[in-house]
Amino acid sequence: MSSGCIFPVFDFFFPRVCVICGRQLSENTHKPLCIVCKAELESGRISGRRCPRCGISLTSEQGLCLSCREQETPGPDGRGLFYYRGAARVLLQRYKFGGVASLSPLIAEEIFSELRAEEKESVIVPIPSSRKSRRRNGWGHMERVASHLKGMGLTVCPDLLVRSAGKEQKKLDRRAREENSRAVFRCTGKRTCKSIVLLDDVRTTGASLRAASAAIEAKGSQVKAWIVFAID
Ligand SMILES: [Zn+2]
Ligand SMILES: [Zn+2]
Repeated sequence: MSSGCIFPVFDFFFPRVCVICGRQLSENTHKPLCIVCKAELESGRISGRRCPRCGISLTSEQGLCLSCREQETPGPDGRGLFYYRGAARVLLQRYKFGGVASLSPLIAEEIFSELRAEEKESVIVPIPSSRKSRRRNGWGHMERVASHLKGMGLTVCPDLLVRSAGKEQKKLDRRAREENSRAVFRCTGKRTCKSIVLLDDVRTTGASLRAASAAIEAKGSQVKAWIVFAID
C-alpha cells in the first residue's frame, strides 16, 4: 500500500472505522462512512438546475452556462453527483491516493442511482487510470468502479479506451490540458456502440472527457453522456 495510507492492512479488508474521520463504526454497518460524514457528503450533492454540458449549478442562465457557450469543442453532455469539496473530496482522495479499495462499492452504488433508465441500457466505459495511479494501487480506480457496475447488471467495456503516458493534467492550464488529453486517449475499436456513457471520478475542465469522447467517436461509436462522482 502507498505510504499516504494511514489505515492498517486489517482495516483495508474489514473497515471498522469511518474512512473519512476515523470514528468507530457501529458493528452492524457494512458502510465505510459514519453518519456524520455521510451527512456531510449529502450536503455537497449537486441538485437543482444544472448546465447540461458541464454539470455545474445554474443561477440565472437558461440552457448552457456562459463557459460552455464559449467552448470551441463542446463534447457530450453529462452530470456529476457531488461538488469536489469536503467529504466527497476526502473520500475520492482516500480511494485514489490512499488505496482504500473498500470505497469502490459505495462509489458504484452512488453512480448507479444517478444513471437514468436509458443510460443503464448504454455501454459504460471507464476513463482509464494513469499508469502511475495503477502502479500505486495495483488497480485502476474507475475500472474497479465499473466492475461493480457490471455486477449490478450494466454492460461495461473497460478496454475500449487506452491511455498512454502524458503530462500530469493538474499541472497544466486549460489549453494545455486540452492538447495533452487529445494525445493521451486512443480507442481500441474493440466494439462499436450506438450509446456509450463515459465514467470518471472528477471533472475539472472536461478535457479528458472531451478527448476520450472524440477518440471513441472517430472509431464509429457514439458517446451519449458522461457521469462523474464529483465536479471540481
Ligand atoms: Zn466519519
Ligand atoms: Zn456548462
